[in-house]
Amino acid sequence: MSKERVLITGAAGFLGSHLCDRFIKEGYHVIGMDNLITGDMRNIEHLMPLPNFEFYHHDVSKYIHIPGELKYILHFASPASPIDYLKIPIQTLKVSSLGTHNALGLALAKKARILVASTSEVYGDPLVHPQTEDYWGNVNPVGPRGCYDEAKRFMEAMTMAYHDAHNVETRIVRIFNTYGPRMRLNDGRVLPAFIGQAIRGEDLTMFGDGSQTRAFCYVDDLVEGIYRLLKSDYHLPVNIGNPAEITIKEFGEEIIKLTGTTQKLVSKPLPKDDPKQRKPDITKAKAILGWEPKVTRAEGLKITYEYFKNLPKELIYSEHREFQPKV
Ligand code: UDP
Repeated sequence: MSKERVLITGAAGFLGSHLCDRFIKEGYHVIGMDNLITGDMRNIEHLMPLPNFEFYHHDVSKYIHIPGELKYILHFASPASPIDYLKIPIQTLKVSSLGTHNALGLALAKKARILVASTSEVYGDPLVHPQTEDYWGNVNPVGPRGCYDEAKRFMEAMTMAYHDAHNVETRIVRIFNTYGPRMRLNDGRVLPAFIGQAIRGEDLTMFGDGSQTRAFCYVDDLVEGIYRLLKSDYHLPVNIGNPAEITIKEFGEEIIKLTGTTQKLVSKPLPKDDPKQRKPDITKAKAILGWEPKVTRAEGLKITYEYFKNLPKELIYSEHREFQPKV
């Protein structure tokens, strides 16, 4: 019997590439698609020789043509860091609006089940803590994160419309801060920023007084949650994240300890609309998917640090930040 075929958009990105690995491991034929604006072929080069893997260099904001059948579509193409939104706001808006429309249209045509990657950013700077799926959010549409947050909110609405109007089998995951190997060292996110700075012997740039909180999920846990959600029969949004909340200051101190750097935390201006607190309520994921994270921050950070440390030197030193967040 021929293998079931899965399309993963954003395949060369951090999460997309880990999903490709998982679906290959599960015995699927994986079609990876990426326009490589923020994705990196190094993340999937180990898959390229496999007969069960194909790569399409394509922008999903344009019409998607895939010959043959598809069982599943996972729509993960999107820039995903505040630095990227600032650099490429229009592509960010297009991929989650036009790109989602194309992916949903493809799902309808192929009778495929589709899972879309939404985000905790739909909650904005949340006034409810921890965030439950029934919270509608506190988003500034015209702030620096607006292009991402609103596009993802549109994505959810469009996905629900295809579910309701066309009976497409849809799944929506709301992804909270996730980390692990293959994050981009220069994407401006706090974890690669801190680890990169520690490796280069620079001070760690803490934005504001570091009292804002986040909760970091290791990528393998996230992939497991997404896999279970895809296979479930639940079509409303589900939070997937690790509820272990920490302030950015404490997080910086953990990175200093982990890396043994003699540098220190220095305060930089807090970016505009930076959420003050974030922590997923994962009651739903536990009840519906029987899922909860397994990897502690200590374990996950150790693996991630090893990955960054072993990147080619020229990468560690050449990847500087051209863009600073809006303050
Ligand atoms: N942050 C920081 N220093 C950095 C980069 C980010 O202190 O060099 C802070 C940022 O202000 C935010 C938190 O770390 O409060 C997480 O930022 P990130 O961009 O990783 O994710 P997001 O804000 O989208 O959750």
